Amino acid sequence: MKAQYEQHWHEVAQEVLLEMRTWREEHPKATLQEIEEEVDTRIARMRAGLVEGIAMSSAAAEVGGRAAGEPAHCPTCGGTLHARGKQVRKLVTTGKQTVRLERSDGSCPTCQVGFFPPG
Ligand SMILES: [Zn+2]
Repeated sequence: MKAQYEQHWHEVAQEVLLEMRTWREEHPKATLQEIEEEVDTRIARMRAGLVEGIAMSSAAAEVGGRAAGEPAHCPTCGGTLHARGKQVRKLVTTGKQTVRLERSDGSCPTCQVGFFPPG
């Protein structure tokens, strides 16, 4: 099964290519340096998106290999965990891009235990 970020990556790449084509049409006399700057900015954005996607896919795997969007289950009783919200961590990476790491936090109403603590 394809990871979510793989699909997203294709969309972002398409978007960037389209943006660059439009930009080029609007800047037919751009210097090589200007072109490089435009490309670098977008590459930095794509890079951040990929880092975020890969990091998040790993976080999803840690909580039991469930597919994104599906409810998590308690490893003890198998009941559906109640979401307690998401914890978000923001990091700034290469090219001043923000990488947003999100981790869902849940608790089991039966066992009265919380899961996915920060760490
Ligand atoms: Zn439980």
